[in-house]
Amino acid sequence: MNEEIWRAIVECDPAYDGQLYYGLVTTGVFCRPSCRSKTPKRENVRIFHTPSEARKAGLRPCKRCRPEEQEWRSHEEELARQLARLIDGHYAEPLSLQSMAARLFVSPYYLLRCFRRVMNTTPARYLQLTRLEHAKALLRDTGESITAVALQTGFASSAHFSAVFHKEVGCPPSAYRQLADRDSRKGAGPS
Ligand SMILES: [Zn+2]
Repeated sequence: MNEEIWRAIVECDPAYDGQLYYGLVTTGVFCRPSCRSKTPKRENVRIFHTPSEARKAGLRPCKRCRPEEQEWRSHEEELARQLARLIDGHYAEPLSLQSMAARLFVSPYYLLRCFRRVMNTTPARYLQLTRLEHAKALLRDTGESITAVALQTGFASSAHFSAVFHKEVGCPPSAYRQLADRDSRKGAGPS
């Protein structure tokens, strides 16, 4: 157990709720980090990542903090929504998991885990798909160069943009633009 986790237990800090549980070998009970029960002796504490791990180790849930109930889920959902909003608003910036986590005041690992669980995808993947959607719109609706589209949608270079675009969309950006042009002319009908 690291100092940060131990500190969370001593201070009953809810930041780790839902992420880990601590059991006491002396009482045979396991708790959430935020549990207000008496501060345990450090040498008697064991850390578990899920309630079922604690159960397998022969411990039973604390009646006070009820570690098997999942109200922390709403916190995860809120965090995942915040991250999606952050990406939607800032996809053009160079975003990393670390920088996004710092903006949301959580650890990168916790953010990744919550997002994955709620959204069924990773922040990196969500970010990439968001960038591609915006890039497609720019290719269709503007005459911006491929490089300009790449830079406006957060890709580091046009080469990287083209490679990602080709892989995800199935054709290079220039071909996508030609197809979109042709479709829109068709859609407009004869004049
Ligand atoms: Zn407890």
